[in-house]
Amino acid sequence: MQTPSPCDLLIRAGILVTQDVQRTVHFDGGLAIGQGLIIASGPWSEVSAAHRAPQTLDLSRRLVLPGLVNTHTHAAMTAFRGLADDLPLMDWLTDHIWPVEARLAPEIVYAGTLLACAEMLASGTTCFGDMYLFEPDSARAVQRMGMRAVLGEGVLSFPTRAYDTPQQAFEHIETFTGSMRDSLLVRTAVAPHAVYTTTPEVLQDSFALAERLDLPWMIHAAESASETAECLKQFGKRPVPYLADLGLLTPRSLLVHMVDIDETDIRLVAESGAGVSHNPRSNMKLANGFCPVQQLMDAGIPVALGTDSAGSNNCLNMLAEMKAMALLQKVHRADPTVTKAASVLDAATLGGAHALGWPELGRLAPGSAADLTALDLDHPGLLPLYEPVSHTVYSATGAEVRLTMVAGNIVYQDGQFPALPQDELNGLATLLKQWALDKTADDRRVFA
Ligand SMILES: [Zn+2]
Repeated sequence: MQTPSPCDLLIRAGILVTQDVQRTVHFDGGLAIGQGLIIASGPWSEVSAAHRAPQTLDLSRRLVLPGLVNTHTHAAMTAFRGLADDLPLMDWLTDHIWPVEARLAPEIVYAGTLLACAEMLASGTTCFGDMYLFEPDSARAVQRMGMRAVLGEGVLSFPTRAYDTPQQAFEHIETFTGSMRDSLLVRTAVAPHAVYTTTPEVLQDSFALAERLDLPWMIHAAESASETAECLKQFGKRPVPYLADLGLLTPRSLLVHMVDIDETDIRLVAESGAGVSHNPRSNMKLANGFCPVQQLMDAGIPVALGTDSAGSNNCLNMLAEMKAMALLQKVHRADPTVTKAASVLDAATLGGAHALGWPELGRLAPGSAADLTALDLDHPGLLPLYEPVSHTVYSATGAEVRLTMVAGNIVYQDGQFPALPQDELNGLATLLKQWALDKTADDRRVFA
């Protein structure tokens, strides 16, 4: 018999959903972790015989799955959770969001992002893609919480609180990207806001920057019928052909929303290799319509999942978002057999890793990141259990998450965040609320 090889940590999992190439699920599974990576993944008997570690984590009453990847949010907008609901998009933005964002400051972004990270870790998300202002301050929060993120400073053609011109934004992104070069947890992206808040030149310059720095390029695209109407009026094209004609649909591109689209749009995206971030609950709450995500997947388009912000979704819970993705497509297609649980879990894990250009995420197989979450198999809402992937997509609400790990470190366990005590979390919420309710706004439109 071979001597066991050393590793940092062994985990015994009651059920281990690996999301490996074969989508293997192990009952009584095991993981060996070393230097923040998965060294071995398989039946506990094999993994524990082949490895030894100074400690073993007993998750034998847990369903362990890869940490979920939320591909689109504006994390700091937790400040707006529940501030104004049940309004049309433009009324919500102009009357409630923009007047407050006109006073946006680095410390608000830091506080709001800490709160967002806490919410995401407690509901099984280990990495997120972000688009906002003052992203270096988001990075401080992400690193403190021990989470991962791909942070895209928003690019707009008008002045913001963070910079006055798009050129300054580009310089800012380049400096920020350089400062994150050695970070294991934070990567950067280029994130022009939308076709209606940028000029064609700014879009093309932003893409050239993404190419030069080899970063993901992400944009809100075809979110609503009013966006399409505006794009047609300004540029004589629908948003997707407009982006295609500018040369901006490539495998580097991540199109967020893709609700108001037609057959030509789908063909253009499928031919380009661009990915889509599907945000079903934001689309529903703003009544923007249905993203035909099953049709996108059938066309071979890489699909990922995102929550959008706590402003337009009110929570950043990927377990709830997965269920919404499946149910919304079934309603949209009037067909309960479409958008099966396994394809939804793929979008929330492997799809997210692809969309953010981070292939080590989204699976628990040798060489991948030791990013995982563990659901309580004794929770009444998960009993009885026939099929683990079904429970993950259709039954789990987030309340079952007992532990979340990033790069081999426990970052959430049983209601506690090692990096953020509860009294500080409550203090952050008080700070954000006071800021949001302060009526002394100036008139600079900032972000949405
Ligand atoms: Zn968004």
